Amino acid sequence: MAWTLPKHLRDVLERGLDRQVRLAVTGLSRAGKTAFLTSLINQLRHAGLDAQLELVSAVREHRLLGAQRVDQPDLSIPRFPYDEAMASLQASPAAWPTPTRGMSELRLAIKYRTRRASRHLTGEEATLTLDLIDYPGEWLLDLPMLQQDFHDWSGTMASLMTPERRAFMSTWLEKASAHTPDSVVEEQTLAELAAHYTDGLHQARRDGGFYFIQPGRFLLPGELRDAPVLQFYPLVQLEGWSREALDALPADSLYQTLKARFEHYKRHVITPFYKSYFQRFDRQVVLVDVLTALNSGPAVFNELRYTMNALMQSFNYGRNGLFSRLFTPRIDRLAIAATKADHVTPDQHDALQTLLSTLMSQPLQDMRYANIPARAFALASIRATTVKKLENVTPNALALSGRTLEDQEVLLFPGDVPSTLPDETFWARQGFSFTPFHPARHTSGALPHIRMDALLDWLLGDKWL
Ligand code: GDP
Repeated sequence: MAWTLPKHLRDVLERGLDRQVRLAVTGLSRAGKTAFLTSLINQLRHAGLDAQLELVSAVREHRLLGAQRVDQPDLSIPRFPYDEAMASLQASPAAWPTPTRGMSELRLAIKYRTRRASRHLTGEEATLTLDLIDYPGEWLLDLPMLQQDFHDWSGTMASLMTPERRAFMSTWLEKASAHTPDSVVEEQTLAELAAHYTDGLHQARRDGGFYFIQPGRFLLPGELRDAPVLQFYPLVQLEGWSREALDALPADSLYQTLKARFEHYKRHVITPFYKSYFQRFDRQVVLVDVLTALNSGPAVFNELRYTMNALMQSFNYGRNGLFSRLFTPRIDRLAIAATKADHVTPDQHDALQTLLSTLMSQPLQDMRYANIPARAFALASIRATTVKKLENVTPNALALSGRTLEDQEVLLFPGDVPSTLPDETFWARQGFSFTPFHPARHTSGALPHIRMDALLDWLLGDKWL
């Protein structure tokens, strides 16, 4: 007969044990990961002091005693550069923290008092060890490659080559077309072609707003910068070649060389990331810069929607057979957050949150199906604007005041955020526009934010009970 510990004994045991959570934060580059982690660490370090965390129940109940940095367990992962980020915000003039480019980690020990068992008892002191891990969302875009061979992947990449994308990849396309699949290409030439492919990806991302980029590591190589494992590219001109003919080519042919490197990348880059890191995360935050996409027009907005849905496949445990074969993930809570909400007036925050939920409705539904709580938020990690009432214009009209990156003081109303997916009428109206803001110089206390506390309470509230 199975024997279970009575509930009150179980509670005592659990409370006696120090708890531990590995909380991972991801998002495409410039989504706001570095700013978010900087603020999260800052808020926790100022919890119970001057941080504005009214929505965190443990803070309201005066149970959060403080957070301290402690040595991280995995010495092979760079430390998240919190001090450097704070130094940028404190500098004169203040600057946004330099974004992280690979994976980084920081461990906090959070002291709290457990909830009182009765009115007459004070809670016991306990420690929550919080590991914060930051990694590029681009890496998650590689997941589908695991189910493809080089031939299929090349076909998928060829289907993505719309005229708009081709424009950014033209140098690579032109140089690569000089080499047929059966030719023998020198190592140096191959490295140059791969470099042109990578440059094209960077340009497509930077100047064209193309978010869906494969392989993800080509954009953010982390510790693999210049490594030969990243020196391959898809063959997008395979017309006239049957799969059998290609498979029969000798090992030193271009096709077979690229195929071998593609398989190596899958085995030595993609799989180890999922096996060694991803499957050890307990909770996950996915950040999305919805507002910048909305600001950039329909093509970029739709590309963001497509890319985020592809990225979220990594959390689709219910439907993804790959996971059960490869590893057992264990994320038990996931928050999706629209960042930089200080770019819009507070009356737009609900619409922003609803828009994000709509944009991500399929992945959110998949999470629910897999019985993993998931919620959408709208937040600003580091608020760079203040809200002004324009009573002399229209009653209750709000506007934002801030400094542009060019150091100009502005007062503006960026427009209404649509709460459903924007249609042609929205885009035709051009009803939305803002410029990026400069952060205010931070002198002391906790960083100003919007709704970081709502997210914190939902993500960790059950851990410091
Ligand atoms: P990462 O590449 O995902 O780490 O993105 P960062 O955290 O470096 O953010 C990219 C840029 O977005 C920053 O340099 C800021 O210009 C802007 N940004 C990030 N978070 C906020 C925020 O909370 N408010 C505002 N106004 N801008 C933000």
